Parts: sequence; structure tokens; C-alpha cells
Amino acid sequence: MTPKIDRLAIVSNNTLEATKAANLNHYDISSALQTTLEFHELVHIFSTKIQDLVPHNGFIYTNTEFGLNIQKGIQTKNTCSYALKVEDQDLGELKLLRHTRFSKHEIDLLETLLCCLIYPLRNATLFNGALKMAFTDALTQTNNRTAFNDSLIREITLAERHANHLSLIFVDLDHFKAINDTYGHDCGDQALKSAAQCIKDSIRGCDIAYRYGGEEFVVLLSDTDLEGAKLLAERIREKIANHTLAYGMEVIKLTASLGVSSLRGNDNADSLVKRADDAMYQAKQSGRNKVQTA
Ligand code: GH3
Ligand code: MG
Ligand code: MG
Repeated sequence: MTPKIDRLAIVSNNTLEATKAANLNHYDISSALQTTLEFHELVHIFSTKIQDLVPHNGFIYTNTEFGLNIQKGIQTKNTCSYALKVEDQDLGELKLLRHTRFSKHEIDLLETLLCCLIYPLRNATLFNGALKMAFTDALTQTNNRTAFNDSLIREITLAERHANHLSLIFVDLDHFKAINDTYGHDCGDQALKSAAQCIKDSIRGCDIAYRYGGEEFVVLLSDTDLEGAKLLAERIREKIANHTLAYGMEVIKLTASLGVSSLRGNDNADSLVKRADDAMYQAKQSGRNKVQTA
């Protein structure tokens, strides 16, 4: 649930300078906040550092842009919440929780202390935004190849450590070159976007889709065996085949061929991907718009 916001904390350089000079506490808090670009750490450090000045039983920090809901302590009757902003940039919402009411003096003090949090939060927003962009494919807004390479190594290590299943689906759109050749590159781009959306709509929250290259996608399925992955691949195939893309006056249909592999004892990242890629190639050979397991 989105917290109800009582106040808005907007900082201008003037107020920041004024409050910096006004209180040595700010120097201590600011120094501690400069040690990290992690949202979780920032709000926990802030809460701990202001505890003596504005005692509280917990806090809730939410940030919709990064899907964050960081909570410490339990919900209380009295709260004091702020929408944090700097130069029109949203930095999330912070709510302090307490069993007793906050006094006017405490609220005034809290507002000057929030100045220390706002710029570190903005740095975290810029840093995490850049990080997100580096791992996202701009056209389809799915994770990109760099993200896939990272996740694959991590997921294989985790699956081996906990003796869990791990499966991979390789998706290649059929005769995609013909879409570009017939309707133009822009139409091809729209078709890629809609295929990516079909894949994302077919998978569960814990599965992740990546754009592997041109018109190729992969889905990484943790804790899923070959049979489970095959069922999901079939769902993706159907979703793409049943989808109709309207491009101007044109009605365009797409299909995909899919290959599925599951982690084996002697696998590494390359062999797991290769088996799914080989299976996808067999699906092409056997007529396209098919799922093949390896
Ligand atoms: P097959 O069924 O054998 O997979 O045939 P195909 O035409 O899909 O395969 P091919 O590898 O011959 O062609 C892939 C095409 O995908 C060629 C390339 O221009 C197109 N493509 C790759 N990336 C993009 C992109 O970002 N946008 C657009 N519009 N087209 C792309
Ligand atoms: Mg291809
Ligand atoms: Mg293709």
C-alpha cells in the first residue's frame, strides 16, 4: 500500500548550505551517508544516525521507480511521511513510525536532517538508473546479453550449490528477415517489441527474459526441470503464434521456434546454452513454430 504523504521535502542549495553550517550532527550524518550508493544502506544509516535526535520505532521507504519497499519495525499509530524530491526528480517516500506523536520541534528538526539524506539518495538514483540502463535492451526493454551472461554464471553456481534444477529456453523468431524486407525495419522493430512482450506475459515472476541478440531471446528458469521448462516454452510459442500485430493497415503474424535445455552434472554456461540453441535449430528443421527439448 502506498503510504499517505503528509509533507514534501524539497531542498534548494541555499537551505542545504544553511543547515550544513547550522549543526555538526549534519556533518556526521552526511559523512556516513557518503559511504554507499545502496538505497537499503542509505535509509538504514539515516534512521540509525537520527535515532537520538528524533527517536522512532521504525520506518518505511518506498521508491516505485526501482520497485523498493524497505521496512524496519512494525506499523505504528503515529507516522510522519515525506515525499522526497530534488530539482523535480522523485527520490521516493520516507515514513517514520512511532507509537507516540511527533512534536513540532521534532518535525522541524527532521526536516533539516532530511537535507543530509536527499543528495546521497539522488546519487543512488543516478547510479542505479545508469546500472539499470547498462543491463537493459533499449528497444524491447528486456534484460540484455550482458545481464544474461552475468545471471547465467550466478544461477549455475546457485543451482549446483543447492542441487536445484535450472533450465533455459532459447527463442528464435521465424523468417524474421522477411518482416523487415516486406514491411520495413520500423515494422520489424515493433514486431520485436511485441514478441518480447508475449514472452514476458507468459513467464512467472521469478523467471527472467533476456534479448540474446537480433531476433533471439532466452528465458532462464531457476528451480525448473526440463518438463516444466517445456510446458512454459509451449506457452510462449502459443502466445506468440496467437498474437496479431497491427502495423498501419497491415496485420502481421509471427511465429517462433524454441529449444529447451536443463542443467546437467558436467555442464558449464556454454554447454547449457549450446544444447538449447541446437534444440532450437532442430525445431526450425522440423518445420518451425515448434518446441524441441535437448
Ligand atoms: P529463421 O526462421 O531461419 O530464423 O529466419 P530469420 O529470417 O528469422 O533468420 P535470419 O538470421 O536470416 O534473419 C534475422 C533477421 O533479424 C535479420 C535481421 O535484420 C533482423 N534483425 C535483427 N535485429 C533486429 C532489430 O533490432 N530490428 C529489426 N527490425 N530487425 C532485426
Ligand atoms: Mg536468429
Ligand atoms: Mg530467426
